Amino acid sequence: MKWNPRLEGMRAYEPGKTIGEVKKEFGLSRIVKLASNENPFGCSPEVKKFITQAGLETALYPDGYATELREALSDKLGVSPRQLLFGGGSDELIVILSRALLSESNNTVMPWPSFPQYRHNARIQGAEIREVPLRKDFSHDLDCMLKAIDENTSLVWLCTPNNPTGGIIPHEELEAFIRKVPEHVLVIVDNAYHEFVTDRAYGDPLNLVEEFPNVLVLRTFSKAYGLAAFRVGYAIGREEVITKLDPVRPPFNTNLLGQQAAALALADQAFIGSTTKQNESGKAQYARFAEKHGLNCPRSEANFVLMEVRGSADAAADELLKRGYIVRSGDKLGTPGYLRITVGTREDNEGLLAALEEVL
Ligand code: PMP
Repeated sequence: MKWNPRLEGMRAYEPGKTIGEVKKEFGLSRIVKLASNENPFGCSPEVKKFITQAGLETALYPDGYATELREALSDKLGVSPRQLLFGGGSDELIVILSRALLSESNNTVMPWPSFPQYRHNARIQGAEIREVPLRKDFSHDLDCMLKAIDENTSLVWLCTPNNPTGGIIPHEELEAFIRKVPEHVLVIVDNAYHEFVTDRAYGDPLNLVEEFPNVLVLRTFSKAYGLAAFRVGYAIGREEVITKLDPVRPPFNTNLLGQQAAALALADQAFIGSTTKQNESGKAQYARFAEKHGLNCPRSEANFVLMEVRGSADAAADELLKRGYIVRSGDKLGTPGYLRITVGTREDNEGLLAALEEVL
């Protein structure tokens, strides 16, 4: 077969062990998965009620334009419905953007460590990948990113809060950066963890879409809204940018259940308030543990923390797995010596920290 030669040596995304696999492998009955930054509190009770009652029409294609969700979101965000593009999770929007803008004749600039799908898709497109290391304190080095941009740059990726480090880009710095980026470059501001941010310096990156034609913001229903299984993400940009991207989107890329659940979830902001409040208390549990043990645990504005461990993070993650806790080793995420732990319920966090104490 005539495969795209760029697929040579490329591996599919490895999601880590499932709850079922860990149960079987270690003979455990209760597993706590704190590995993928999902919402440990589930989703809005309104969505749960809807799912049990839904009686959805399964034989017809969904509304490819996601009209109801589009209108609800455009009201909530104060943007025109034509400024929105929906994807099967923001993962699919990253694919769409990469297909629309990257090729072997251009390059893309991104921070590292950050969300690996930016470079994964750039690789498939054959674009030159320019990764700019975060600073020692895990902040984005925007000056270096600026220097990496040239006339052949088509996409710049920023992730705020950044996965896996949790830090934000202060609004002032972000704005100053975008002001200096040439207009031929589209700047993607990935805000997958937007709803969790409490630091006022973050402002709201969406405001930049108003002022700058070359900014696109990515958000998702997978994290704070607790709908990761339904795969709904969205991009907000200038109408002319969205119109250019839309032909790359598969026609019915968000499904009926996902569209309806997302619209209901959006209407239940009380659930988001309670999730973010509990997330803050959870992060405080991890911060206290880190302080007690003299470990570094940088302030995260997302729903996960990076926790320093003594010795190898791979080994610590394996030991936690044996005790029924699935977390991600920073050795595989570009943050060696740290675990990335999704903030769970209070009980999950207590259990995990007790296990970590044994493993340290
Ligand atoms: N961006 C970032 C920064 C993420 O961490 C994730 C999920 N891990 C995504 C995008 C993709 O999320 P989804 O496709 O579920 O919207």
